[in-house]
Amino acid sequence: MTLQIENLTKRYGDTRAVDGVSIELGPAETLALLGPSGCGKSTLLRLIAGLEPADRGCVRMDGRDLTGLPPQRRNIGMVFQDYALFPHLNVGRNVAFGLVELGWPREEQRRRVAELLDLVGLAGFERRRVQELSGGQQQRVALARALAPKPEVLLLDEPLSNLDQTLRETLKFELKGILSALERQAIYVTHDQSEAVTMGQRVAVMREGRLEQVADPDNLLSSPKNTWVARFLGCRNLFSAAALARAPGLAMEGPAMLRSDLISLEGNLPAEVIRCEGWGSLRQLELRVPSWGLTIHWKGFAREVPADLAPGATLTLYVPNDAWVPLDPP
Ligand code: ADP
Repeated sequence: MTLQIENLTKRYGDTRAVDGVSIELGPAETLALLGPSGCGKSTLLRLIAGLEPADRGCVRMDGRDLTGLPPQRRNIGMVFQDYALFPHLNVGRNVAFGLVELGWPREEQRRRVAELLDLVGLAGFERRRVQELSGGQQQRVALARALAPKPEVLLLDEPLSNLDQTLRETLKFELKGILSALERQAIYVTHDQSEAVTMGQRVAVMREGRLEQVADPDNLLSSPKNTWVARFLGCRNLFSAAALARAPGLAMEGPAMLRSDLISLEGNLPAEVIRCEGWGSLRQLELRVPSWGLTIHWKGFAREVPADLAPGATLTLYVPNDAWVPLDPP
């Protein structure tokens, strides 16, 4: 099964929430859809699920146009940020909800519910009330409910964003394990870049209704397409064409990004420490490179940094040529 999205477009008044989006998922691929709040991620999911009609474009499953099919007939499962469980139904009945709608026989429903609760780590929870569960457990129930009718495609809309940091980290890896074991296609929406690069085999970066760049996580982080994507991914070493043209001793045309992960603190390029921050095993440095006339940021492990490093100290850096990545203008 492959999900194909062709030129999907949706406006609300003057807002182009989704603006001509086309993408095709590979077999069993999880695509992470990453972008700032308001860029159109949820709207795109709603169009795919059939919860709202598109103004233009279509969604195909194995070439079959789904336009006009109601959500329950699209064979697509959805998991929402706020779980959206039915509070008056127990866990088992929540998970069985789609199966009842589809008319599955009772015994098969029971077996499928048990199988899924087992998959999400809640075996034996059938009779629990959903209000008695923690946020993480409720989200597992929501996932089990979405998976119960064996959807071809699973759409997850910021499923971890209501959970606290520690739980989010744990559940992120669990969810990735579940998704890869299922071998289904999935679209995982998030505004968190670390979640996107963990969950997605590819990451689609969305900006103002459009897909700005689609790449696998390594490529995205090492070669963002333009300054906007690089900044959104958290890169702080971004330099305009003008700044680089002014830099003596640097034969670089801008705009460009400097990858701090490739800079070593043992080399022969003098740099003055402006700030040194961090705790535990991590450190962040702000450094001034006089021969370039530029200030750069470095992130790494405390063991790479000389002990007792303080502002005013001088380090010598090694910056390989490929640490410089040319970017398109924003
Ligand atoms: P995201 O999920 O990336 O935060 P959304 O898809 O929710 O973004 O929203 C994209 C844009 O469409 C925003 O400008 C938002 O205000 C607008 N929008 C979304 N849903 C509606 C709606 N039902 N009516 C009017 N505007 C909407």
